[in-house]
Amino acid sequence: MDLRALPSVDRLLADAAPLIDGHGRATVTDALRAELARIRNDRPDPLPDTAAILTAAAAALTAQAQSNLRPVLNLTGTVLHTNLGRALLADAAIDAATAAMRAPAALEFDLDTGGRGERDSHLRALLCELTGAEDATVVNNNAAAVLIVLNTLALGREVVVSRGELIEIGGAFRMPAIMEQAGCKLREVGTTNRTHTKDYRDAIGPDTGLLMKVHTSNYRIEGFTKEVLAPELAEIAHQVGLPLVNDLGSGTLVDLRRWGLAPEPTVADAVAEGADVVTFSGDKLLGGPQAGFIVGRRDIIARINRNPLKRALRLDKMRIAATEATLRLYRDPDRLAERLPTLRMLSRPEAEIRAQAERLAPQVAAALGCQVRVTPCQSQIGSGALPTKTIPSAALALTPDPEGLAAHLRVLQTPIIGRIHDGALILDLRCLTDDAALLDALT
Ligand SMILES: *Cc1c(COP(=O)(O)O)cnc(C)c1O
Repeated sequence: MDLRALPSVDRLLADAAPLIDGHGRATVTDALRAELARIRNDRPDPLPDTAAILTAAAAALTAQAQSNLRPVLNLTGTVLHTNLGRALLADAAIDAATAAMRAPAALEFDLDTGGRGERDSHLRALLCELTGAEDATVVNNNAAAVLIVLNTLALGREVVVSRGELIEIGGAFRMPAIMEQAGCKLREVGTTNRTHTKDYRDAIGPDTGLLMKVHTSNYRIEGFTKEVLAPELAEIAHQVGLPLVNDLGSGTLVDLRRWGLAPEPTVADAVAEGADVVTFSGDKLLGGPQAGFIVGRRDIIARINRNPLKRALRLDKMRIAATEATLRLYRDPDRLAERLPTLRMLSRPEAEIRAQAERLAPQVAAALGCQVRVTPCQSQIGSGALPTKTIPSAALALTPDPEGLAAHLRVLQTPIIGRIHDGALILDLRCLTDDAALLDALT
């Protein structure tokens, strides 16, 4: 074998016009060099000709050109799947974000006076209207909201929290760790299962900065339990002139029972119960982009806005635009389920999903050459909302070799993500609003 018979990079480039058109000369040159180096190393016999080398380089370039952040089909049955990006945005929010990206926007510009405007002003009135709070501000996510609230109100002081509420929300967000980063001292009271008003009262002293309530969003403590509810906690705090902060986590702006779902605390309720500050997420039940909302007393919100951390944690114009459009949808609750994908998926009737599963089962079996049966299953809201309340749904159960099938579906052009349960690969169809999306992904 004579490696000198290989064509030169220049020779290959002369025949690579379509590739250069698609990927640019520099990238194609690199790909050809890499391919030639591979051939010199592997010494295949016979040596590939120019056409074969170009085909191999084209395949490598196509693979490189694929986005690292791949769209996938979420058939896990967890509607707000943190690892799959949580809420899908409403069309109105997507349009608003796109418009904000394409053209300059009056982000911090007051169109009435021509002077400097305020970034949060686009969201403040809507948030106050929807929650009943006096004032509102917004940061990068709810973890950031908790961080800046604690840092503003209790730097170097004690924060009193029940031992039953020291949550961890997946890995890095642990309430004690956030407290420490915020510069506060955690003052745990009560026990894991029972905390009384006396526990809070006894813990209050000259070093106390605030009382905190944390919604135990991703777990439930059941059995012999006692929790001090927010109204009573607010009373205790206010008697001694301290603020009560309520971290709702997911929270919701509407009563979910209207759509046949189990109730999750609403932000308006938390405000009405007397909390001075309430924090909640944008991309959990609310169904918007990642954001952390802080609503509550005007004087406290003003102090938070003056904290230098606010600048570090602020939202960009795309998310402000998308958040505003999402919040506006809540002004018409009658059409919310139709417009907000999160609510649309959560409220899809089981019978509709089952009919879809019956329809798709034979086609999926044919496409994959495996056994497919329709099975009832339970969907989850996800992202720490209503952890013990599942929603009846329907799934395709694929056998045999569920691990092999799962691996195969993950490497499709549009990967399909399911979950393995009881020896089958379960594809919960709750989040599949369009049959064609699954069939296209499979072919
Ligand atoms: C989810 C959650 C957080 C963190 O919110 P992110 O938006 O993920 O930053 C904080 N507190 C509670 C109670 C939560 O449920």
